[in-house]
Amino acid sequence: MTSDPTAALIDPHGRQIDYLRLSLTDKCNLRCFYCMPQGFHDFEKNENWLSFDEIERVVRVFSELGVKRVRLTGGEPLVRKGVARLASRLSVLPGLDDLSLSTNASLLKSQAQSLFDAGVSRLNISLDSLDPEKFESITGGRLADVIEGLMAAKAAGFAPLKINMVALKGINDDEFEDMVEFCLEHDFTLRLIETMPMGATSEQATDRYLDLGEVKARLAQRYDLIPGVMPGGGPARYVQVNGTDLRIGFITPISQHFCETCNRVRLSVDGTLHLCLGQSHSYPLKPLLRKGIDDAGLKAAIVEALALKPLKHEFVEKPSQVVRLMSMTGG
Ligand code: SAM
Ligand code: SF4
Repeated sequence: MTSDPTAALIDPHGRQIDYLRLSLTDKCNLRCFYCMPQGFHDFEKNENWLSFDEIERVVRVFSELGVKRVRLTGGEPLVRKGVARLASRLSVLPGLDDLSLSTNASLLKSQAQSLFDAGVSRLNISLDSLDPEKFESITGGRLADVIEGLMAAKAAGFAPLKINMVALKGINDDEFEDMVEFCLEHDFTLRLIETMPMGATSEQATDRYLDLGEVKARLAQRYDLIPGVMPGGGPARYVQVNGTDLRIGFITPISQHFCETCNRVRLSVDGTLHLCLGQSHSYPLKPLLRKGIDDAGLKAAIVEALALKPLKHEFVEKPSQVVRLMSMTGG
C-alpha cells in the first residue's frame, strides 16, 4: 500500500472517497411509503449486525485510509440502543473531522442532548410535510413528535439543522413555500430531494416523482434566489434566499445526477460495503472481521472493494435494477 493514506481511497474513476455513511439498523419506527413497504418485516437478524466494537474498528480503519466524515443513518438510527454511546467512541477517533446523523426525529426529543454531548456535530432531519394528517399519511408517524425532536435538537445546540423534504407530486407539492417560511423562522437549512426508485417501493416513488427544476423555478418567482452558495462534497446544489441566511439545497439524482463528484461509500448494518446507492456492486466486510483479519488486511480489503465502485447510478436507464430498499443500504 502507498505511504500517502489518502491515495488509497481514490476510485477507478479518479474520485477521492472521504465520506462513509454507516447504517446502524435497517429497521424503522416509521413507514414512509416511498422508502419502506407497508407491513415490511424482512429485517436483518441481530446476530448479523456489526457490533459497536466492530463499527468502531471499521471507522478507525477508514479514517486511517483518509475518510474524514462519517454519517450515522439507517433505517432509523435512533431505534438502535446506545447510539450516543457509539457516537462518543467515534467522534474522538483521530482524523475524523465530522460525525453527523440522519434521523426522522420522532425519537429525538429524549436523545438530542446526549447526541450533541457525544460529539455528533450535525443533524439532518426528514420532514416531508407540516400538515399533521398529511405527515401521517406519508410516514405513518406523528408530526408533533418530530417537531418536538427538532426543537430539542435546536435547544441542544445543533446548528444549522438541515431539513430533508422529499418532493412528492400531488402530496406535498403545495407546501414548498410553507416549508421555506418554516425554515426561515427557525434558522434551518432546507434540502429538497427527488424520489429515487429503490426495491419494492420503486413504483410508489416513481409515481410521485417531481423534477426539482420545476420547483426551483416556482420558488424563484416568490423569492430572490442567489445561486451557487455552499459548494461542498455533497450532492445538494444550494441557493440562498437573498436578504436572509436561508439556504435551499436541491438534491436531483434523477433530473441532474451528480455522480461525477461522488465522494462516498455506504456500510450497511450487516457489514456489507455498498459502492453505489443505485447499483448492486458490494463487498462483504463482516466475514473478514469475524475471521479475525488484521488492520492491514482490512485496509487492503477496503481498497479492493473501492475498485468495484461504478461510474454512476442508472436510476433513469434501469429504474427496476435496484432491488434493495433505501433503508437497507443506509440512505
Ligand atoms: N430514517 C432516517 C431519515 O428518514 O432521515 C435516515 C434514513 S432515510 C433512508 C435517509 C433519507 O432517505 C431520508 O431523507 C429519506 O427521505 C430519503 N429517502 C428514503 N427513500 C427514498 C427514495 N426512494 N427516494 C428519495 N429519498 C428517499
Ligand atoms: Fe424510516 Fe427514514 Fe425510511 Fe422514513 S425515510 S421509512 S423515516 S428510514
